[in-house]
Amino acid sequence: MARSGPRDAAMIVSMSPGATKEDIAAVVTAVTSRGCEAFVSRGVSRTVIALIGNTEQIAQTDLGAHRGVAQVVRVSSPYKLVSREGHAERSTVWVGGRSAGPVPIGPGRLTLIAGPCAVETPQQTLEAARMARAAGAVLLRGGAFKPRTSPYAFQGLGEAGLKILAEVGAETGMPVVTEVVDAGDVELVAQYADMLQVGTRNAQNFSLLKAVGRAGLPVLLKRGMSGTIEDWLLGAEYVAQQGNLAIVLCERGIRTFESATRNTLDISAVPMAQRLSHLPVLVDPSHSGGRRDLVLPLSRAAVAVGADGVIVDVHPRPAQALCDGAQALLQEDLRELADSLARLAPLMNRVLTVTESTEEPGARVPVGA
Ligand code: PEP
Ligand code: MN
Repeated sequence: MARSGPRDAAMIVSMSPGATKEDIAAVVTAVTSRGCEAFVSRGVSRTVIALIGNTEQIAQTDLGAHRGVAQVVRVSSPYKLVSREGHAERSTVWVGGRSAGPVPIGPGRLTLIAGPCAVETPQQTLEAARMARAAGAVLLRGGAFKPRTSPYAFQGLGEAGLKILAEVGAETGMPVVTEVVDAGDVELVAQYADMLQVGTRNAQNFSLLKAVGRAGLPVLLKRGMSGTIEDWLLGAEYVAQQGNLAIVLCERGIRTFESATRNTLDISAVPMAQRLSHLPVLVDPSHSGGRRDLVLPLSRAAVAVGADGVIVDVHPRPAQALCDGAQALLQEDLRELADSLARLAPLMNRVLTVTESTEEPGARVPVGA
């Protein structure tokens, strides 16, 4: 645990959905005039203000009397805006809406995200996206900027890859999530993406976290491979502090002494993060196990432990993949995974997130039904 100090003495003010800009400004003025800092962050349905500093001198009742204030809570955890202490209800994050979607990720639902590890060619991306869509995936993943351990490995197509991804996403009816590896690329990636991914290697790249927080798009935040749950949630807090609460956490395995798998899927991190934070939590079984034959069992475990969805790698020809072919699912594997999710969802009181399929019209229930 981080040691507590004056900056941990925070309060969270939740504004009611109808609160105006003036109502928010009045709360901010009331606390800044007493020497505290105020960080305003927008969630889907309401605005939340974190008050940091010597908040003991501010009476909860004083703030509660301001117009538009729904609730005032003292928060002791080191992360404030993403903490469940100040926001008891779990959040739903909506992704897309430009050319496809929006797609919800959150409680009561199970969301399947699939796509190639890396965008290699227009053809390969389209084939992978069609595989994903046919199996019922509602978001398309794919990397144009690849954070590779080796500088000699394929680094991604960059902007050309983003263009392919956006075109394929629009053609197959799926909003796209793609990684940004450099704070200087955030604006460029945001022109094409519906959701910005911050990968495990950048989970504590604080200037990148701040930059994605300012981009105005939902963020998918992977857990650092050697990061604690607290490190992860403090990373999310960096994003939230910039005004953006549309954050989805993703457990993708951590480094342990075990070498039989690529990483060790920390399954207990899922319910733990959900207890500590109101943000949705996904599991990436592809990067956890690093093996195709582990993706299905790890996905089943993810659903059983309460994950809000899974994100998986697919490839039409894994043997030729430029990145992570060993963990990429083939069409049949993906169908089996999707069938498994459909059968497990009701057992966990969840509804599989679906959008109107372009491939099977009428076969699925649209989002929002
Ligand atoms: C990815 O999703 O393509 C990726 C690189 O994941 P991670 O950051 O979890 O390794
Ligand atoms: Mn990968």
